[in-house]
Amino acid sequence: MKKIIFLLICVLLYGCKQPENLKINLIHTNDLHTHLLPFNEYGDCTIDSQNCLGGFARITAFMLKEKQENPDSIILDAGDRFTGTAFYTLTKSRYLLPLFEMIPYDAATLGNHEFDDNLSETVHFISRWHTPILAANILSSSKEPISQYIKPSMIIERNGRKIGIIGVTTPEINILGGAAIEITPIKQAVETEIKKLKNQGINIIIVLSHISLTQDIKLAKALPDIDIIVGGHSHSLLINDKSVVHRRGEYPMTVNGGKTLIVSCGMGGQYVGKLQAEFNTDGEIINYNGDAVAMNIDIGADSAAVKIIADAQTELNNILSEKIVELPQSYGYTDGTDYCSQECPIGEYIAYLLAQEHPEVDGVIINSGAIRSALPHGTVTFNQILELYPYDNPAVIIELSGKELKKFLRHGITHYHKRGKTNELLQTAGIRYEFTVDDKRIENISIKGKPLESDKTYRLLTSMFIANGGDRYPQKTYTETGSTVREIIVNQMKNPQNSVYQLEHNVQIIQNN
Ligand SMILES: [Zn+2]
Repeated sequence: MKKIIFLLICVLLYGCKQPENLKINLIHTNDLHTHLLPFNEYGDCTIDSQNCLGGFARITAFMLKEKQENPDSIILDAGDRFTGTAFYTLTKSRYLLPLFEMIPYDAATLGNHEFDDNLSETVHFISRWHTPILAANILSSSKEPISQYIKPSMIIERNGRKIGIIGVTTPEINILGGAAIEITPIKQAVETEIKKLKNQGINIIIVLSHISLTQDIKLAKALPDIDIIVGGHSHSLLINDKSVVHRRGEYPMTVNGGKTLIVSCGMGGQYVGKLQAEFNTDGEIINYNGDAVAMNIDIGADSAAVKIIADAQTELNNILSEKIVELPQSYGYTDGTDYCSQECPIGEYIAYLLAQEHPEVDGVIINSGAIRSALPHGTVTFNQILELYPYDNPAVIIELSGKELKKFLRHGITHYHKRGKTNELLQTAGIRYEFTVDDKRIENISIKGKPLESDKTYRLLTSMFIANGGDRYPQKTYTETGSTVREIIVNQMKNPQNSVYQLEHNVQIIQNN
């Protein structure tokens, strides 16, 4: 009846046409992770390489061509733009932002890696990026500057039809520094937005999600009003070519008997998704086709993007080749191993450097697993420090009682084998300890030259990884130092007085007989 009245009014007043079916051209990316260059399993490649996929120059060329051929294309990004290459580690979003600005995105959501540098880098990025950011399940207080840039959903119009887009992100976002951000349950947050959109007469709903493929499927089943989910987070590659190694399923994946379509494109931008769907006037999908498109050399390269990437590379090379110091001696491992087992000169040396920066603490503890290479004597470049300690791990101060410190040291040897690697083993400065291999006892602990006192509180410098419960250490509240572990290593190595370090043999094995 409503329809007839509507048509009657239409014909009488405006002579307007009956609403038609809507065809959309949806182009999407997810988990680009700062892969500015094409890459393969061996690493980054140049833009003209045949055997590597991806790269922003190709992605930009592809997107701009799609937009030119079909100005009504809907272009979306499902999050995790940050972290993954040395470009991010060393230049943050300096080149990433202008590259993202070149792609005419309609909307994007936030990934967990957008929070890797506290909130500051995210705010810097999204306050300048001209793309609406959607995340319905993030509640942030108005005190947080990030609040003003996040909306739960938005409405776009194509061919006279309204389309609702709802953003949603993983509850695993790592909010550092106690930001006033709260995550609400995903289903509830999306359901609320669907209701709001439906009340406005919108019957085409796209969810832009960074919650993983498994969660996308669950969400689609729970809320069948969703037409399309553009996903990310699990790096799942949905593609029709069965010969692709990392394939997780067909493109698009269908749920609810084909009423809901899920798309997701792996990681790093090696593939970009292109989904064409036709909706009837009730907002139901009646036709669709699409695939993940390989970003290979045939795509071409956008010249403006090529220029930005070349500038980024020049800056990266300058940073990596910077000479930090001339070491008169090498710092390696012991026992012919290539990792820090028990006493370890490179481990002790790093702990020593950290202690030099913070003489106010009682000791330093760092996990052996974070130390990835040794330092030879001679010229040491920044690139070598990056290989030595590749993590952007903030240095923090924690407080432990003597009893707790003993527990920490003991946890460090739990998985110790005579010839095995043990990532948890603690390298120290200011702290000495001995342990037995067979029955895993910790003995003769001293701190600043005095025997450990069980009830005394000690202030220790460590990494945020350990303080946050990494390697299964007990989680501890911490105070940030404002520097990363690597920044301190570089800073202290530049002081020539620190180049020669006399090993103190802080970690000792007592041989059981
Ligand atoms: Zn990711």
